[in-house]
Amino acid sequence: MTDIEKLAAILSQSSSAVFFGGAGMSTESGIPDFRSATGIYNQKLNKKFSPEEMASHNFFVNHPEEFFAFYRARFVYLDAKPNAGHLALAELERRGILSAVITQNIDGLHQVAGSKVVYELHGSIRRSYCVQCGAKYDVDFIMNNIPIPYCEKCGGIVKPDVVLYGENLDNEIISNSIRAIAAADTLIVGGTSLIVYPAAGLVDYFRGRHLILINKTATRADVDAELVIRKNIGATLSEAVKEAFG
Ligand code: ZN
Repeated sequence: MTDIEKLAAILSQSSSAVFFGGAGMSTESGIPDFRSATGIYNQKLNKKFSPEEMASHNFFVNHPEEFFAFYRARFVYLDAKPNAGHLALAELERRGILSAVITQNIDGLHQVAGSKVVYELHGSIRRSYCVQCGAKYDVDFIMNNIPIPYCEKCGGIVKPDVVLYGENLDNEIISNSIRAIAAADTLIVGGTSLIVYPAAGLVDYFRGRHLILINKTATRADVDAELVIRKNIGATLSEAVKEAFG
């Protein structure tokens, strides 16, 4: 039996599978990891900043104009399309096999592919809100209102609904994710090296039968996994779904 056949067999027996995905899922849609940018010299501020500094809450508050320039250039990829993996997961949900997608990515591509239950641990570029009155805006508002997007209702700054460095993850999204993982019969972890906490610790809540790791490099959960596949996440999921359901 090949790994794809094994994965297909597990999926066809599952009824509450959960997918937990990381950056690998997005890079396969052509979205680079923003951390791959090296220190950026900001002429206006006359200083060099790391990508993490520029994506921090402090930077957003103290240097909003520079924050938004960095954000628009490095976080927002509106032309990116869902890959075969996103589409395969949406099909698994439609077939009643997958109960939730939990993602560390902020591109919103799972919903574009058709997934309905998606827990976005780090938020989404596709939503924004006024930090002062809470009014909601879409991504275009931030892209079009240069340099700083101000709320049309109250004049407050409109912030992307993504978790910046120095900000906490949303408690409700965390508890929904834990609930889905604790109730899952199968957990597929893909495109993440399981290094970033607390998100990576979610895997510890899994009590189901089938733990599957799909990642190009080793992770700390490999030893507990029934199946470890060191290949592209998108192609692997898509081939397994084809194998299982034709
Ligand atoms: Zn407002």
